[in-house]
Amino acid sequence: MKFRFWGVRGSIPSPGPRTARYGGNTTCIEVRSDDDTLIILDGGTGLFPLAQHLLGRLPVHANIFITHSHWDHIHGLPFFMPLFIKGSRVRLHGAVDDVTGNGIEHVMGVQLQNSYFPVSEAQMDATIDYRTLEIGVPIAVGDTVVGNVLMNHPVTNLGYRIDCHGKSLFFTGDHEPWYNPHAPGDPRHAAFEEHLAGRQREIDAAMRGVDALIVDCSYTREEYPAKQGWGHGTFDAAFEMALRVGARTLYCTHHEPTRGDDELEAAFADVMARFRDRLGALEVRLAYEGLEVELR
Ligand SMILES: [Zn+2]
Ligand SMILES: [Zn+2]
Repeated sequence: MKFRFWGVRGSIPSPGPRTARYGGNTTCIEVRSDDDTLIILDGGTGLFPLAQHLLGRLPVHANIFITHSHWDHIHGLPFFMPLFIKGSRVRLHGAVDDVTGNGIEHVMGVQLQNSYFPVSEAQMDATIDYRTLEIGVPIAVGDTVVGNVLMNHPVTNLGYRIDCHGKSLFFTGDHEPWYNPHAPGDPRHAAFEEHLAGRQREIDAAMRGVDALIVDCSYTREEYPAKQGWGHGTFDAAFEMALRVGARTLYCTHHEPTRGDDELEAAFADVMARFRDRLGALEVRLAYEGLEVELR
C-alpha cells in the first residue's frame, strides 16, 4: 500500500510564495492498495490536482472517504474531473450529517446547488453512488478494510484506518485533544472525565500500531489556548498520541493557513527538540504536497 499527499493545508486554500514548498491546497490524500484499489481520503482542493493526474489513467474507479463536511475537506468534489467522464465510477463514503439528518450525499448536493455551482449532478456522466457509513463498522474496499472511529470536532468527524495485507494507515481528519469543560470540584467533572477516557480508548484502539499516523497538527501549544473548542489539534498532542499508540511514523498535516513554510519548519523544529529524547523508533515528518510514501 502507498499514499500521496495532494493537499496538506487546513481551513482555507493558501497558495502563494510563502507556502510554495509545503503547498496551499486543502486536505486530500490518495491511497493505492496492493491491488491498485484507489481510496481518496477527503476532497479538499487537493482533489483537483489529483483529478488532473488521474486523467492519464482512465477509467477512474475512486472510493472517496470524507472525514467531515467542513469546506476545506469537500471543496474539491465538484471539480473531480472523473465525475464528468463516462465509464468512471465514483463512490462517496462518509457519516450522516447530524444537522440535517441527510446521508453523505449532502456534501455533494449542497455544493451543486445552482447558486454555487453551474453544473448539476445530472450532467455528470460517471456512475456516482453514496455510502453512508455506520460509526465503528469497518467495510471492505478492494483488498483493504476501511474502519472508522468518531473523533473530537464540532461536527461529526470520522477518523479512518485502512488495513491492507498487514500494512496500515490512520487519518484523523480534524481532531482536537479531549478536554473537560467542567472545573475540578464541579460534580459533573468526574463523570465527564470517564466519558472522555472511554472515547480516547476507542480512538487509541483504532490507531494502535499503525505504520502511518496522519494527524491534524494545526496549532502550536502556545497558540492552542486561544483556539480551544475550534476542533483542532497541536503538534504536542499528536506526538503524545503517536507515542501512546505505537505508531511507526507520524505525519503532521492540516497546516495552519497563516503559517508560511519557514514558520512551519520553525514550529516543527521546536517540537522536535522538545521530544528528541522520547521519540525512540518513532519517525515524524511534516506532510507536504507531493510527498509519497510506500508502506513496506
Ligand atoms: Zn479542516
Ligand atoms: Zn473541520
